[in-house]
Amino acid sequence: MSHGHSDHIARHVAGVASPATIALIAQRLGSCRLSPLPFGEQIERAGHRISLVPAGHVLGAAQIVVDAPDGRRLVYTGDFSVRPRRTIQPASPIRADVLIMECTFGLPQYVFPSDDEIRERIRAFVDRALADSAAPVLLGYALGKAQEAMALVSDLGYPVAVPRGVAELAEVYCRFGVNLGPFEIYDGELPPGHVLIAPPSALRTGLPRRSRTLYLSGWAIDRSTKYRLGVDDALPLSDHADFAELVQFVVAAQPARVYTTHGPSAFADHLRRLGFDAQHLGNHQPALF
Ligand SMILES: [Zn+2]
Repeated sequence: MSHGHSDHIARHVAGVASPATIALIAQRLGSCRLSPLPFGEQIERAGHRISLVPAGHVLGAAQIVVDAPDGRRLVYTGDFSVRPRRTIQPASPIRADVLIMECTFGLPQYVFPSDDEIRERIRAFVDRALADSAAPVLLGYALGKAQEAMALVSDLGYPVAVPRGVAELAEVYCRFGVNLGPFEIYDGELPPGHVLIAPPSALRTGLPRRSRTLYLSGWAIDRSTKYRLGVDDALPLSDHADFAELVQFVVAAQPARVYTTHGPSAFADHLRRLGFDAQHLGNHQPALF
């Protein structure tokens, strides 16, 4: 199990996941029957050694490394990002014979701005909203994006409020030693000067009066995203690797074979042009075990 996003979790009866992923799944589903495998430890299944290393996506997200008895190594990245974050360790490429990787942003237009630029654009958005007596609202997935935004906005010096669902996941981060800064629970009334950090579903379920919205997602590279969602602005703060980072990751892993998933088939075409033996698997999860 690579990580705790709902498009990647199921009620598995057996398997392993990082302790943080198990805690996040238990928080969301009420229970989790996976066995914990901390980063850096190994288990053996049918002669294969299995270990997990950080994927840099959300708390607990793991790349799965399988060492076969014949010495060959398979790495499954799951969703991953190589950028240093406030709340999680980034993914590092691992040398692999077979690499199975997500390629969500595997088209050349998806190159994200620097983290410094993203931070300054968030600061400018919040300052402008507050100067106009509007309520600044940052929208991002409840798991991962919201917690990164909480830490980032706290670092910028603004007080933060979040809906209860985001707070419950944030408490799991805190249990695992991640400092998100102080936050209050939003229950329909945003205290003056606060920044609300909420999932995109808040656009339907209710925002504060006079709110100004900023959507945080890699899809913000597409100009249509802002209009499609009906938000005031959008910014590519992503928990996935961008196109250039995906390519660098493959170059560093030097795999004999690459399988791509969760993204455009054109990314595998690009890798073949670079000389890699690459094939797109489609967008289903590979069954590894
Ligand atoms: Zn994910």
